[in-house]
Amino acid sequence: MSKVHSIQSPLLDIQNLTKYFPVKVPFGSIRGQNRQVKAVNDVSFQLYEGETLGIVGESGCGKSTTGRTILRLLEPTSGKVIYKNRNIFEAGSKEIRTIRQDLQMVFQDPYSSLNPRKRIGHLLEEPLIIHGLGDSKERTESVLDILEKVGLKAEHYYRYPHEFSGGQRQRIGLARALIVNPKVVICDEPVSALDVSIQSQIINLLRNFQESLKLTYLFISHDISVVRYLSNRIGVMYLGNLVEEAPTDTLFKSPLHPYTKALLSSVPLPNPKIKKERIILSGELPSPINPPTGCVFHTRCPYVMDICKKQVPIRRNIEDGHFVSCHLQN
Ligand code: SF4
Repeated sequence: MSKVHSIQSPLLDIQNLTKYFPVKVPFGSIRGQNRQVKAVNDVSFQLYEGETLGIVGESGCGKSTTGRTILRLLEPTSGKVIYKNRNIFEAGSKEIRTIRQDLQMVFQDPYSSLNPRKRIGHLLEEPLIIHGLGDSKERTESVLDILEKVGLKAEHYYRYPHEFSGGQRQRIGLARALIVNPKVVICDEPVSALDVSIQSQIINLLRNFQESLKLTYLFISHDISVVRYLSNRIGVMYLGNLVEEAPTDTLFKSPLHPYTKALLSSVPLPNPKIKKERIILSGELPSPINPPTGCVFHTRCPYVMDICKKQVPIRRNIEDGHFVSCHLQN
């Protein structure tokens, strides 16, 4: 949170977001019992107009579930998401449709969200029909316009999803999100499935759109280098918990949480002559069905203390906008 943010009210205010999934345990001594996968646990953060907030963490840390629950593609277990003074989680189906015009999502695998039997022109027109935007002629013009903006051609209008490459499909995914003129776009691992050369094209496209359309991004990825390149601020998630949050430069210069330090130690330095110590975490990521007591990171933390096993660390604002949840910072 910069000084500007401290006087600006957030565009999206996520408060104590929690998402548990009920499951039957398939193995072990508690086989057959009803349990809960604690995918997202009491997560709070704010998204400010025009910024990119990156959410980073290893696979299974709950970052994608966080994005989907904010948009109510998954129903929350508890918490609030405030948008325009309204808790999205209390909105009825008509109101949520209006809200979703402003809050769009780009998925990792756009192919799975595109009906293979429909032509691209139709797939891009669909969101306009859902939100009641324009007549038939205007909608066709909007589709042709967005095709051009994402770097596709008018002739692509009549093609089917399987006729496109992975990078082109992600351009279509982006076009589908942007055609309704949203304010916020939640990008869920949008470049993870693409070749490195194609990744940079999509990332640059995202950057250009942010500037020209004044978009706000929540950018979710396991790739800290991509997140660093795009984000003004970064939140670090571990086992369903947001353990640290800071402006990008601050996080890279002075990470405070031991998990963040380990994550950053794996990022190569621009100058390969400068050596830095890689922190290898011991053990596996614990199961979110049975997360560790106290600090969820304590089973892998090199600095673990007795208190860590018993008490959940409180999230503290260490300095302007640098938040961390760790007993070392008490
Ligand atoms: Fe490590 Fe304890 Fe901090 Fe958790 S609270 S990260 S276990 S030092």
